[in-house]
Amino acid sequence: MILEKTEILEITCDGKSDEDIKKLSFAADVIRRGGTVCFPTETVYGLGANALDEAAVGDIFKAKGRPQDNPLIIHLDCLENADKYCKAKENVHLDAISCFFPGPITAVLEKRENVPDVVTAKLKSVGVRVPVHPVANAFLKLCGVPVAAPSANISGKPSPTDARHVIEDLFGKVDVIISAGRSDVGLESTIVSLVTTPPTLLRPGGISYEDLCEKLGEVAVSNAVLSEMKPGDTASAPGMKYKHYAPKASVFLVHGAEDDVVSFLSHKQKNENCAIIGFSEDKDLLCKKNFFDLGSIDNPSEHAHRVFAHLRATDAIEGLEKVYVHITGDKSGINLAVFNRLLKASAYHVIDLTEEK
Ligand code: AMP
Ligand code: MG
Repeated sequence: MILEKTEILEITCDGKSDEDIKKLSFAADVIRRGGTVCFPTETVYGLGANALDEAAVGDIFKAKGRPQDNPLIIHLDCLENADKYCKAKENVHLDAISCFFPGPITAVLEKRENVPDVVTAKLKSVGVRVPVHPVANAFLKLCGVPVAAPSANISGKPSPTDARHVIEDLFGKVDVIISAGRSDVGLESTIVSLVTTPPTLLRPGGISYEDLCEKLGEVAVSNAVLSEMKPGDTASAPGMKYKHYAPKASVFLVHGAEDDVVSFLSHKQKNENCAIIGFSEDKDLLCKKNFFDLGSIDNPSEHAHRVFAHLRATDAIEGLEKVYVHITGDKSGINLAVFNRLLKASAYHVIDLTEEK
């Protein structure tokens, strides 16, 4: 840290009022002086430092307790600036997906010399993202340097979708926390590698696999998206091998016909110290105690929006042993991203009631 204590800066007018601009300028100055700043984006909150300053980037890893071989994404105010840090102009695929920028997507491109190894975990590629969130955009413009940032949570925990989560995890460990309410998407960006042919989906997110295929034609899907890494497998992105998004209690995903899932969950509520993360439709049929509502079964963007906050909230329940999450098994659109995060949070524990019949 370069400041004596963590400063929390409340942004009230999307970064547009004089007061907001003053606060964001202060935070940008902290970045240029080698400090760390947590900032809101449309996906989740990020924990940023100047990507060109090795010591500052090192402080991100320390604050999060993040393994050094898990690379970071660099955040820019506009895609036009990407070419300074990676081979953007000469990439044959980037143009096709430029319509998704700014937005919840990260393109992995061949890096230039000026991006230090500590950012990319020694990979020759770098992930580039341009957030559309107005506060993130105003902040990045004021920084004038690329900002390396992972999600602003303690490594392994669910990602922060609200400034309260960032304060919970990182107060006292970072210089500044910019607080601006809830993130819109609620899940981290889609990551697509453009250094492979065909391009490869490394992590699903707000821009769906179908969206990418429409623009790029063929898109490969990394094994790590839906299947567990086996000992000896090599990760195409180092971050894929770590336990992720997990609350303290053990998570189990439950899939099956609505009636079967409800009777299974109801039995668990009677016999175990557990929490349920389910759909609004389940709520009336189950005990309300320790029930967390993902929204209507037909509203997957709402599931994305709420899932991390619910996983995190279960940590506050005294003595909780298990969390059961109702899943639909649908993998289209943003469902794939929600399913991917839940698979990792549950360490791939899926209870399939259709199989058990
Ligand atoms: P987070 O740190 O939670 O924001 O997640 C960042 C993700 O981006 C991690 O899963 C990294 O493995 C992935 N990532 C960052 N840079 C690269 C890269 N150059 N190639 C592949 N994956 C990357
Ligand atoms: Mg993360």
